[in-house]
Amino acid sequence: MNNRHHSFEAVASATGDPFLLTPGPLTTSETVKQAMLHDYGSRDNYFIDLNEGVLNRLVKIVDGQSTHVAVPLQGSGTFVVEAMIGCFVPRDGKLLICVNGAYGHRIAKMCEYYDRSYVIQESNEETPVDIQELDRILSEDDSITHVATVYCETTSGILNPLKAISEIVKRHHRGFLIDAMSAFGALPLSSKDVYFDAVVASSNKCLEGAPGMGFCIAREAALENTEGNSMSLSLDLYDQWVAMKKNRQWRFTPPTHVLLAFDQALNEFDDEGGVPGRGGRYQRNCDLLVKGMREMGFRTLLSDELQAPIIITFHMPKDERFEFSSFYDQLRELGYVIYPGKLTIADSFRIGCIGRLGTEQMNGALSAVRFSLDQLGIKERIS
Ligand SMILES: *Cc1c(COP(=O)(O)O)cnc(C)c1O
Repeated sequence: MNNRHHSFEAVASATGDPFLLTPGPLTTSETVKQAMLHDYGSRDNYFIDLNEGVLNRLVKIVDGQSTHVAVPLQGSGTFVVEAMIGCFVPRDGKLLICVNGAYGHRIAKMCEYYDRSYVIQESNEETPVDIQELDRILSEDDSITHVATVYCETTSGILNPLKAISEIVKRHHRGFLIDAMSAFGALPLSSKDVYFDAVVASSNKCLEGAPGMGFCIAREAALENTEGNSMSLSLDLYDQWVAMKKNRQWRFTPPTHVLLAFDQALNEFDDEGGVPGRGGRYQRNCDLLVKGMREMGFRTLLSDELQAPIIITFHMPKDERFEFSSFYDQLRELGYVIYPGKLTIADSFRIGCIGRLGTEQMNGALSAVRFSLDQLGIKERIS
């Protein structure tokens, strides 16, 4: 009865590539990729204007005009997270890190490298940051100067209660630093609702540009106080900001092609209706995926209230014949790239629903999963 499909037609994106159902890099539109077919010098006026336009548009996404500024940085997302930590936490400061996954732990590692004092408030990977505990820790420890939180912890796909966290941090008059890498552009984040010193994200997650640069959106008054904090020249956001204010240029070779793509990606973001439009599509993707996978017997790690519409963690099926690498290879051949799990608490794998993907790709991926399970002879999917 499981052999209804004897063959399965492999699919590909408009440019012939597999669809990336991962936490990044992600599938981009054909038009975003086309925007990169030009070489610009870093002092070219067209490029300089475009760069400034991109930064202003990023500030607008968090309603930060006149209070906030955007500072770009070369590299993957981690570079700008590290730049934020190194720049905003003063050398004699102390950071409280709310950890419920690998990205929180990565911030702790950065503190080790930079020799910054820190404490960790940890909950397990299926539990959001505990607000009461945060309140208690801040009440008891005056030496904590800053708090860092991951908005959507991509390790599991869990949503942390950002607004509630920010209210507590603000009440205790500490600085608030947000890693919104996998949420920015898809989940609400307004500087009018969430009081923060800095938030970081990158060009290639929910904004659907090409990978290669990150950005920090900072409250200008907070950024002004960070001079001399950074122990890294290339990751010094303060220095990058001051230099760019002076001559509108990046300090070191800008990723010109990435910026051209980013500008186009922001056009497409606006066309889709900004955060509600983009987040709405991802939510539909997520709902389809979760429903379809559950119908096949898979179990999600998270309950629906905790699940961000970004990436979904599924428990591995119990069937002994299930081997993730064969499942992955089989799906890859059919045109869908999924992702291994990163949990410490359970054997799992992940399927992302962000990037230039819609209903057609979600339904296609579900059919491919069904076909692959049949091919691999997996009957018992209950995980
Ligand atoms: C993707 C991601 C990062 C950055 O990862 P890179 O691989 O360096 O781009 C940081 N934090 C979170 C929460 C992420 O999802």
